[in-house]
Amino acid sequence: MSMQERNTPNRSIQCTVNSCAHHCQNEQFCALDSIQVGTHEEHPTEVECTDCMSFRVR
Ligand code: SF4
Repeated sequence: MSMQERNTPNRSIQCTVNSCAHHCQNEQFCALDSIQVGTHEEHPTEVECTDCMSFRVR
């Protein structure tokens, strides 16, 4: 992904995970067109059970 793409925020996806390669850095948004949300739990019961599956470390 180019710097240009990474700096274009998708204002429909708010995110504070600055360590992700898809994060816009200067603004608290994701730069992807869409993301995949999933869970690492068999029976998720709280917000901590959910994950952004599109996360990629910077
Ligand atoms: S891919 Fe997920 S974790 Fe990464 S910036 Fe986008 S919403 Fe945040």
